[in-house]
Amino acid sequence: MKRLSILGSTGSIGRNVLNIVEMFPERFRANVLTAKDNVGLLAAQIERFRPEIAVVFDAERVDQLSRLIPADVDVEILWGDDGYRAAAEHGDTDMVVAAMMGAAGLAPTMAGISAKKEIALANKETLVMAGQLVISHAAENGVTILPIDSEHSAIFQSLSGQRREDLDKILLTASGGPFRRTPLADFRKITLADALNHPNWQMGRKITVDSATLMNKGLEVIEAKWLFGVSEKQIQVVVHPQSIVHSMVAYRDGSVIAQLGVPDMKGAIAYAMSYPERLPINQPAPDFAALGALSFEAPDLVKFPCLAMAFAACEAGGTMPAVLNAANEVAVASFLAERIPFIAIPEVIESAMGRHVTIDRPSLADVLEADRWAREAAGERIMKIQGSLS
Ligand code: MG
Repeated sequence: MKRLSILGSTGSIGRNVLNIVEMFPERFRANVLTAKDNVGLLAAQIERFRPEIAVVFDAERVDQLSRLIPADVDVEILWGDDGYRAAAEHGDTDMVVAAMMGAAGLAPTMAGISAKKEIALANKETLVMAGQLVISHAAENGVTILPIDSEHSAIFQSLSGQRREDLDKILLTASGGPFRRTPLADFRKITLADALNHPNWQMGRKITVDSATLMNKGLEVIEAKWLFGVSEKQIQVVVHPQSIVHSMVAYRDGSVIAQLGVPDMKGAIAYAMSYPERLPINQPAPDFAALGALSFEAPDLVKFPCLAMAFAACEAGGTMPAVLNAANEVAVASFLAERIPFIAIPEVIESAMGRHVTIDRPSLADVLEADRWAREAAGERIMKIQGSLS
């Protein structure tokens, strides 16, 4: 029985993890569930899965949650940073599923590593912000990090059984998002509904917008660099609109090994949960005859400057990826609140990166300070943009 702490159980990854727990109750138990503010869904999950501990964002939500849970359900409710850390360190947990949104995932993931828990990582921001620190901390503690992101799961699978010194490059596939065919001249007319209408993948709102700007792919480049110990020069992004090839690895003899599957995140999630076994999750293999053709093209860095900025942040190293990530989170939140237009997202990030002086080999405190500063810088830029719109 593998006992799980699911950080972010009410999000789209968390709900999929719980679906798999439900499919294989003899193999998994959800011991700890955490959420930010979706108290209603968390209460339903607690009733169904009976965790020992549940964590919410603040004391007010503890009260809300307590009122929703029937008296006969015995669960300890914690809150805030200390609560999330306790969730990751919990003694009765074997694996931490890090599926919180954004920068909030960093501290609890580090705590889970310190407590020597196996980590199933969905929260890419953790590695984007502090890849060096997280990876070296995991190595020091002998902790395995299993990727849940579908591309990274595909790369992980494509590296299996191969010699690392034979690796030439990683080919990271991207669907291209909903605006792959939209002319640049029409980008200023893009609405929130347009951006949330992803052609292939069902995901949360923030990551869906990141997929529309290709920032998601940029963050994945940085994530891949740390997870697989390669330079960004060894990572190439390939647009593949059908999302059947989940990513590939090219070797020095010109051979390419890929992992393929239908575009459903359940596959990568189940693989991380049960590695090295594969679970019978009732997911069919792609129907290649029905698909007919798989196509590939280069990404358009003029239409999608966020991808170019992510490569630049990766190359600059140090605290710059944390700045990229924080400015992006603030810009996307603002776009989701319909306060700035879609085309302003890269502008906000570029202005924060342009003002930041990179600190090399940062400490965790340096990273958190860069994150805080970038949120402020992004906020200032957003105020300016709003001023010019009104
Ligand atoms: Mg992905």
